[in-house]
Amino acid sequence: MTIYDKIERTLQQLGVSDARGVESLFAELQKTAEQERAELVSRGAPDQPQRDRLCKALRDRWLARKGGVLSRVDENWLKPAGKELKPVVGRQFNDLRRWTASLEFEKLAEALPLQEAPVKQVELPLTTGAGRAVPRDLTLPGLRRPLGSVHPVTRMQREIEDIFLRLGFWIESGPEIESTYYNFDALNIPESHPSRDDWDTFYIDAKTVLRTHTSPVQIRAMEKYGAPLYIIIPGKCYRHDNPDATHYPMFHQIEGLAIDKDITFADLKGTLDFFAKMLFGEKVRTRFQPSFFPFTEPSGEVAVSCFVCDGQGCRVCKESGWIELMGCGMVHPQVLRYGGIDPDKYSGWAFGLGVDRFAMVKHDINDIQLFFQGDVRFLEQF
Ligand SMILES: [Zn+2]
Repeated sequence: MTIYDKIERTLQQLGVSDARGVESLFAELQKTAEQERAELVSRGAPDQPQRDRLCKALRDRWLARKGGVLSRVDENWLKPAGKELKPVVGRQFNDLRRWTASLEFEKLAEALPLQEAPVKQVELPLTTGAGRAVPRDLTLPGLRRPLGSVHPVTRMQREIEDIFLRLGFWIESGPEIESTYYNFDALNIPESHPSRDDWDTFYIDAKTVLRTHTSPVQIRAMEKYGAPLYIIIPGKCYRHDNPDATHYPMFHQIEGLAIDKDITFADLKGTLDFFAKMLFGEKVRTRFQPSFFPFTEPSGEVAVSCFVCDGQGCRVCKESGWIELMGCGMVHPQVLRYGGIDPDKYSGWAFGLGVDRFAMVKHDINDIQLFFQGDVRFLEQF
């Protein structure tokens, strides 16, 4: 007769009539509880849901209000016990109840080792010394760690860089926290210019801003290298814009700058036309329209014929047949002077384009915010 059969009978039915018999019954019960607990703990559980299930099962077998071992003992041994046995049964029962507190769910769960999740298995060699010995199946297949991919904006930036690297330009960079001198003054942007307003620019203090464009690096590069100079300048810029489908307070620009003797607007047009064809295909045409920037004179806006509809009009080009690419122009003589270059000996051209916008056009993405929200479902597509 197992102890589980015994708890379904009264002491009288079991023929137990003295303290010794009661104590030996309870000892058998406690030994069974100890064994069951030890067995569970030594076996461990593969994962948390399994562990919870195992712990709950053991807990319920012993402590459930209805049908648990303790409740059966109370029902069949304690309650019907005669006057002379009742005190000893009661005492033993209390001892057992105290001991079986270790079968409460939380206590079991705490004691029960998990055969760690796959990610942790990798760390095992470092922790076996201190950790518990848990049997492990070394024949299980290895871990698959998904590789990330290059962010669409970074990819666009690299594509553009590659084209200019082939033309003999090199890549220059500069600080994102910039002085108002480099960000505005040296680029011929007057004190009164609206872009200096703190509605447009993030000021750190009166003389320090988060750069609003990559153009300050033009001046820094002129100071550093002098002329001739052929560089492109990719990087992050910041403006006080509320995020919407076409604006974000942080965005990416690429600046181009060529300074040499006898550089003319024809060089600018030829270079940017070549660039557009390399990026969007041999068939595209470029269009230059006059514009104004404080740091170039003359200044222009460059558009490319739509590479989707070939200029017929479609959703990508908003039915216009043209896609605006960038601003450009001949470097203002005053800007050359700020950079320490003699405008009587040298001339140059410059352009600035938005990398995020290029990536949007190229991949037909209608909201710039998607780039920076870190949603893997979006980023996985590239
Ligand atoms: Zn189109």
